[in-house]
Amino acid sequence: MNSIDIAVLPGDGIGPEVTAAALEVLRRVDMRHSLGLSLTSLRAGAFAYRETGTDLSDETFERSRSADAILLGAMGWPGIRHADGTELAPQITLRQRLDLFGGVRPIRAIPGVPSPLGDSRAATIDFVILRESTEGLFYSKDRGVVTRDLAEETLRMTRPTSLRLARMSFDLARERSARLARPGRVTLVDKANVFRAFAWLREVFGEVAGAYPDVKHDAAYVDAMALDLIRRPWDFDILPTENMFGDILSDLAAGLIGGMGFAPSADLGEEHGVFQPSHGTAPDIAGQGKANPTATILSAAMMLDWLATRGAGQKLSDAAEEVRGAVDKAFREGLRTADIGGSAGTLEATKAILNALP
Ligand code: ATP
Repeated sequence: MNSIDIAVLPGDGIGPEVTAAALEVLRRVDMRHSLGLSLTSLRAGAFAYRETGTDLSDETFERSRSADAILLGAMGWPGIRHADGTELAPQITLRQRLDLFGGVRPIRAIPGVPSPLGDSRAATIDFVILRESTEGLFYSKDRGVVTRDLAEETLRMTRPTSLRLARMSFDLARERSARLARPGRVTLVDKANVFRAFAWLREVFGEVAGAYPDVKHDAAYVDAMALDLIRRPWDFDILPTENMFGDILSDLAAGLIGGMGFAPSADLGEEHGVFQPSHGTAPDIAGQGKANPTATILSAAMMLDWLATRGAGQKLSDAAEEVRGAVDKAFREGLRTADIGGSAGTLEATKAILNALP
C-alpha cells in the first residue's frame, strides 16, 4: 500500500474528544514509522441528522466503504431520536451494511488501573468477547412488531454467519495462543438450556472445533458467565456470543478493568473493519474535557494490527505494539484519569500517552 486511507467518523458527544486524542497518537507513530496514513474526517451521527436530515449520508457511507479502515468515535444522543423513540445509531447501520459480523472486544487489565474486584489476580485479566454484530436479537432492529396488545422482536442466527463467527473465534484463539504462549480456549456463551437456536449454535461451533484440535473448546450459559466474569474472569480466553448477550457482557467486562474508557473494539467483516471504543457518547460528561481517550487509542492500535494482517506491513503492527506499550507505561507510571478517580482529563491523558511513546 502506498498511502493508507483511513475514514474518521468522530460522531457525537465525547466521540470527537476521544477521536482527536487517537488521531494525535496515530500522527505521532505515523511520523516515527512512515506508515503513510491518510486521515480524513467525515460527518455522521445524531447531530449530523439534526442538521441535515440524515445520520449517515450516502456520500459518507461510500467514502467510508472505499477506505482501508474506519476509525469511529461514538454516535447517538438522547435528545435526538427517530419518531418511534429509538436513538440514532449509524454505527449499527455500518455493521449491517458492511457485513461486520465480528465485534472483537479485548478486555485486558492495564497495569496500575484499579479493578473493583479487589483481587490480585485481576491484574492478569486478558480475554476477548467476540460479539456477533449483525444478527441475533439486533437482527430485529426496525423490524419489531408493536401493537397495543403485543410487542415482538425476533432473534435470528444464520449458518453462514455462525460458521464465520466460529472460525474467527478459533483463529483468534490460535493467534493469541502463539503470542501469549498459553493454550487457546474458545468458550461459546449461549442459553442452550432454554432456546433451540442456541443448541443449534453449539452444534455449529462443534463442527468448526474439529478443525482446531490445538484449541480447547467448551460452552457456558450466559447467566452463569455473568457470575463467572465477576468470580474468575482471569480464567477465560475467547468468548464468542450472540449480539445482545455480547452487548451486555461487554459493559460488565469493561467494568472489571476500570470502565468503559478502557475497552476498545473492532467490528470486523471479511472486507472491512470499523474500530471504535466500546463506549457510547457519554452525554453526562460530554464537552467537559473529562473523557478517557484510552479505549479509542487502543482501538486505533487494533486498527494498525488489522491493517498489518491485510498486507500493510510489519511496521504497522510494530506501531500498534508501541501504542499499547505507551498506554501501559503511562498508567503504570501514575496516570489516573477522572473515570478511575484521578484528575487527568482528555488532554492530560493524551499527553501522558504521547510522552510514553518511544
Ligand atoms: P451506548 O448505549 O451508546 O453504548 P451507553 O448509554 O451505554 O452508550 P456510555 O455513553 O457508554 O453509555 O456511558 C456509560 C457511562 O460510562 C457514563 O457514565 C459515561 O460517562 C461513562 N463513560 C463512557 N465512556 C467514557 C470515557 N471514555 N471516559 C470516561 N467515562 C466514560
